[in-house]
Amino acid sequence: MRFALFATAVFAVMTAGWAQAATESACPGDPLAPANNPVVQLDAYPTPDGLAASFGSLQYRRLPGLGPKDIALTFDDGPNPTTTPKVLRVLAQHCIKATFFLVGSYAAARPDLVRAEAAAGHVIGSHTWSHPDNLRRLDQAAAEREIVRGFRAVQDSLSGAPETDRAQLAPFFRFPGLNDNRVLREWLGQRQIAVIGADLGADDWLRIDAAEVQRRAISNAALSHGGVLILHDTRAHTAEVLSNLITALEERGYRFVQLVPAPGAGERAATAPGALIGLWPVASSDPIVPVVSRSR
Ligand SMILES: [Zn+2]
Repeated sequence: MRFALFATAVFAVMTAGWAQAATESACPGDPLAPANNPVVQLDAYPTPDGLAASFGSLQYRRLPGLGPKDIALTFDDGPNPTTTPKVLRVLAQHCIKATFFLVGSYAAARPDLVRAEAAAGHVIGSHTWSHPDNLRRLDQAAAEREIVRGFRAVQDSLSGAPETDRAQLAPFFRFPGLNDNRVLREWLGQRQIAVIGADLGADDWLRIDAAEVQRRAISNAALSHGGVLILHDTRAHTAEVLSNLITALEERGYRFVQLVPAPGAGERAATAPGALIGLWPVASSDPIVPVVSRSR
């Protein structure tokens, strides 16, 4: 379902960062990459009609700060004890910082991996508690609980981390399967959360081999002029192909950027009524059986 958009989010591309990157030494593990990839700042102001700021041209609008050869890597559905560490090693090798959309139940099971992501400078958003295939099919209360518990699990997993690492939790949400609805987008907008969709994928949630993941990513990047790329750090073929894929995209002139919240966006979300991030009382929650699906 598509919606007319009247986004007012303000973006600021850190051009100073780009200029700096051009003069910095190359990434030690990747001569085609700068030592630090530039960032694109995202303010999560809701639209005038009350919807969450929502980005990604598959459903919404393209993030204005993204150039035609920019790719923002995003990884969904983790953390996974087998594949996420491999993905983190590849990203470190290429000096790329990315954005991870975590499943809360998995974050609760492996808080060490969440902390490793944050400590490496990756931005962390939420992707619900148990990854229901389609939040549209849940009643409103159940859908809200999925989102609340997902954010809380991620935040709790960072509770023992240094403050700078805890600050890597962003007011960013991605709907499982990108299955949004207007009511939930309004609900998220009231909480100053941005909905991050995508401009392209690589179908890595399908049973295709690693070479095909790479082929589709390159093909789709040409069609979409880069943008926000959805991958899954839970997939063995993705972890396997990621280094080659990054190099192949770099050789084609793409550069990697990181989506980050603009200064103040996190604080606004933390102080919004019904805040999903920030401080909240520790409360016992109804048990929810993790039923993480195999879908995207
Ligand atoms: Zn997912």
